[in-house]
Amino acid sequence: MKTIGSILLLTALCLHLPAVSAKRPEKKQAVDAGLEIICKQTVEAHLTFLASDALEGREAGKRGGRVAAEYIQAELKKLGIKPFSDAYIQPFEAYSPAREKQVDFQVNRDSIAGYRQLPAYRKLSLQNVVGYIEGERKDEYTVIGAHYDHLGVDDLLVGDRIYNGADDNAASVAALLEIARAFAVNGEKPLRSIIFTFWDGEEVNYLGSEYFVENFGNTAAINAYINLDMISRDGLMPVLYPEFIIPEATAGNTATGNQFHLLYTEPLTEAGERLQQDIRNYQLNIEPKPAVIDSRSRGSDYLAFSLRGVPILWFFTGLHPDYHTPGDETGRIDWEKLIRITKATYLSLRLLANGK
Ligand SMILES: [Zn+2]
Repeated sequence: MKTIGSILLLTALCLHLPAVSAKRPEKKQAVDAGLEIICKQTVEAHLTFLASDALEGREAGKRGGRVAAEYIQAELKKLGIKPFSDAYIQPFEAYSPAREKQVDFQVNRDSIAGYRQLPAYRKLSLQNVVGYIEGERKDEYTVIGAHYDHLGVDDLLVGDRIYNGADDNAASVAALLEIARAFAVNGEKPLRSIIFTFWDGEEVNYLGSEYFVENFGNTAAINAYINLDMISRDGLMPVLYPEFIIPEATAGNTATGNQFHLLYTEPLTEAGERLQQDIRNYQLNIEPKPAVIDSRSRGSDYLAFSLRGVPILWFFTGLHPDYHTPGDETGRIDWEKLIRITKATYLSLRLLANGK
């Protein structure tokens, strides 16, 4: 692990760019400026800090998770990205019956009311972090998100006891902060407003995204949700529906080298094809393995959106042997792949936020 001292130095080298600009450059210039700004040093600095032992596996409701949220908030502020409502931090609570498994934690109002009638119940205090760039059509939205929580520390583990969650999902948080920076400096006001979301409680039961969507109100005003979860290794595509199943690895379901899984629900088929064209045009040197997924598929934070009819797009490099083990560490990140996927995600967010 790198020390915090070197992280601060790298951040200083990369973050000398201006905040959101009022003037609107030509389209092509804006795209190029955004792509050029996406920089390995910044992404590496974010990731190395978030996945360091000091953050204790960023467990939902624990100290390390709260430090991660504070860090994300401070970075958004530094970039000049505004909060979506009156604050960056969106606090919420999840409840479960006593002595039940974590998966029974719920944020839904009716479930909470029921649990609170029980003689004993458990409560988790959590927080999403949410940033915002206003679009020309202020009340229409494109949402992009990545969960920042992971599995914490397990005292019963023999050897390394910290689940650092570098690929799952510090890499995506680092990428999303870098994409926010690209939008902040490209000087272009998008057609739709963009909401940058950093979810808590994904590893528990997709809690942060569920809470946000349930309380958002008008999901019909969201034209797409882009999900980033595990985007920096080689790995295999699980079966998502009806159950989350890990099959045998085959050449057909594994993304290796410059390949990644590009997943979308049916309404985004055309956007997915357009994105593949953009990846070729901009010579990003990555190869999407596209697949249309069912909107009821369990797998990550997109579920709260897709179940309510919001089209979704998911960037994913697949499951690997270090998935949900203490071996998911910064030293195993494929930096080139992560940067290329960050650029492809920037292009897709631009495409969806500006699409007619
Ligand atoms: Zn994840």
